[in-house]
Amino acid sequence: MSDEIDGQLELFNPETLRRRARKGEARAWLAAHLRREHDPDRCIDWPFGTSRGYGQIVIDEDGTREYVHRAVCRWAHGEPPTERHQAAHACHRPICVNPLHVRWRTPAENTAENVEHCDAVKLTTTDVVRIRAALEAGELQAVIAERYGISQPTVSNIATGETWGWLR
Ligand SMILES: [Zn+2]
Repeated sequence: MSDEIDGQLELFNPETLRRRARKGEARAWLAAHLRREHDPDRCIDWPFGTSRGYGQIVIDEDGTREYVHRAVCRWAHGEPPTERHQAAHACHRPICVNPLHVRWRTPAENTAENVEHCDAVKLTTTDVVRIRAALEAGELQAVIAERYGISQPTVSNIATGETWGWLR
């Protein structure tokens, strides 16, 4: 995939002022980036032009642009299952191009995950410790969810360690 990528960027888009790439520079950066080993715990921010917060790259001679995180997702996971699938960020940071942080999701899945994420950022570590204690005491997930103004699946994810697993 990386061989098809031409690194010329849209120079007149004000958002590209992030950093203007010399011709071929963005392509070279992406190719080198994809060859590297990636740390699952660290975001890798696209250093060049963006549109609506997402990195963009020109992929052919006609000037066709593509979102870099989509190109990275295709590289990591193959073609999207359907046209409608979105390259969703596990880290919720549009600028990130870590292949370990992007995966194909339907718009509905993506929205649901974003709701989860909003719930997750609402909570403090103290909340999570208390939620765990409540779960251990046998309190119902729905009851805990209501108390904290979050969704029941968010409580379920805390119970399984899917979210906040790092907090011991
Ligand atoms: Zn990331």
